[in-house]
Amino acid sequence: MKVIDHINQAKDTLVSFEVLPPLKGKTINSLYQHLDPLMEFKPSFINVTYHRSEQIFKKKTDGTFEKVEVRKRPGTVGICAAIMNHYQIDAVPHLICGGFTKRETEDALIDLNFLGIDNVLVLRGDATKNESSFEPEPNGNKYAIDLLKQVDYLNNGIYLEEDIRDGFRTHFCIGVSGYPEKHFEAPNLDVDMKYLKDKVDAGAEYIVTQMFFDNAKYFEFVAKCRENGINIPIIPGLKPITNKKQLTMIPRIFHVDIPSDLLNEMYKAKSDEDCEMVGQEWLIAQSKELKKAGVPVLHYYTLGKPKIIYNAVGQIF
Ligand SMILES: Cc1cc2nc3c(=O)[nH]c(=O)nc-3n(C[C@H](O)[C@H](O)[C@H](O)COP(=O)(O)OP(=O)(O)OC[C@H]3O[C@@H](n4cnc5c(N)ncnc54)[C@H](O)[C@@H]3O)c2cc1C
Repeated sequence: MKVIDHINQAKDTLVSFEVLPPLKGKTINSLYQHLDPLMEFKPSFINVTYHRSEQIFKKKTDGTFEKVEVRKRPGTVGICAAIMNHYQIDAVPHLICGGFTKRETEDALIDLNFLGIDNVLVLRGDATKNESSFEPEPNGNKYAIDLLKQVDYLNNGIYLEEDIRDGFRTHFCIGVSGYPEKHFEAPNLDVDMKYLKDKVDAGAEYIVTQMFFDNAKYFEFVAKCRENGINIPIIPGLKPITNKKQLTMIPRIFHVDIPSDLLNEMYKAKSDEDCEMVGQEWLIAQSKELKKAGVPVLHYYTLGKPKIIYNAVGQIF
């Protein structure tokens, strides 16, 4: 079932989770162990992130370096199929521009369609560690909107082969990302908003936000979207802060602010357990306020601490 249909048919706020594929070398059972307790909350869908390979330089025994391709978390498509089969819950694969030619993207979409997957979250992806800015593959998609258009073509039976113009029409429901605190490359929020509106006009059916820790930022973002004619559902993405290191790491990696009140509470915490409690309580308070405001879905990034997500969601649903 499509995410947009889940939302349209819902009488109240829904819950959904995002998971990462297991690290290479681990089995899918590690993912099931992570997800099993969360199934109690009957999530409407589960997102599975996509991780492209990275090129790293590995030191050889003779002291020289060799360039090797490393992919730490493969398996997004297979995991989506496994989740749907194992839990009978809709899975939403993340699909990125980076590392894919358009032909490889088309093949991935065909696989997803054959597996009965109705949803995709389309994203650009970030620059690899060796790039100063994002570089698409030759013949790849440059921005999320280009990838979105490719999915939309397939939904209309138009394939890359010029002789397939009336092929099988896929029916993917397409989600995109949005940034309440602005995407870090955008010169300002107005410019970012313009590109978000373009994605919506090109066929995005809902938005999932980057994590935020201050609900006011989400509410302001939604208001600004509405002012700009963006009227599709905007799903808040939520993540708990669970240790002091994250207070500097999360702003550095995700370009979001940590509110002073949360910061002060974390500084006061004496043990790891205290930090987790602070993060958990903050997540509960955020979730309660968002649910009261009638958000369509509470979408939880579950990486790392599923127990905290379990405890928090248990207070809400
Ligand atoms: C909910 C969520 C899930 C994510 N999941 C993953 C994942 O699974 N794997 C992964 O690798 N990354 C993931 N990311 C990270 C994401 O790939 C990065 O944030 C990336 O830098 C931007 O992706 P985007 O789809 O928002 O890009 P875009 O919408 O393409 O925007 C990228 C930047 O370009 C600008 N822009 C957009 N269109 C144009 C245009 N036509 N001309 C000029 N500028 C333009 C935008 O303002 C923005 O600054 C996720 C992010 C979010 C919020």
